[in-house]
Amino acid sequence: MTTTRTCVGCQTAEAAAGLVRLMLAPDGEVVVDPKGGASGRGAWLHARPECVERGVPRGLSRALKTSVNATPEEVAEKLRATGVRRLAGLLAAAHGAKLLAAGASAVEEAFRESRVRLLLVAEDARAAASSHAVGALFEKGLALVVLDKVGLGRLVGREEAGVVALLDGGFAASVREAVALASFVRSRGRDTRSMAVGVAP
Ligand SMILES: [Zn+2]
Repeated sequence: MTTTRTCVGCQTAEAAAGLVRLMLAPDGEVVVDPKGGASGRGAWLHARPECVERGVPRGLSRALKTSVNATPEEVAEKLRATGVRRLAGLLAAAHGAKLLAAGASAVEEAFRESRVRLLLVAEDARAAASSHAVGALFEKGLALVVLDKVGLGRLVGREEAGVVALLDGGFAASVREAVALASFVRSRGRDTRSMAVGVAP
């Protein structure tokens, strides 16, 4: 049942769910197909800096059968923005379903009741991050650092939020993927171009 697709960066075939689909907007701009099922020609890519670096623009142009002039930086920024949007949608849905705890005391209470499936910690939430609950969740691999207090707060309808806990396993898994995308940065330095040439077949 699993459909495999080939990453235009590393040329590895993988289940479509592990890749991001890019396509061309009517104006010729490269855009992320958020659900991966929009009609039209698409190209698949791992949301990894090295695959963006290797696949943009050449592999992408080949897959889209047109000359794409997007840069790796532009595609990286689109991936990041898509991750933040996806995260916003998921947190809003979890909030609506009452499967989310925002703020230190709510998180502490959910932790005591063993209901935390994933904890999001803002980069600048130093006070919250030093609590026992947060430490324990980090140790179990159940905590991720993302955005800052204002950014995280905005996603849960607050001015600021240092910590936000997901109380449902399904939401937690989707949020994990969105966070990976939202944290996407083009992490390579200036010598990437020569490296990419070096590894090309
Ligand atoms: Zn790849």
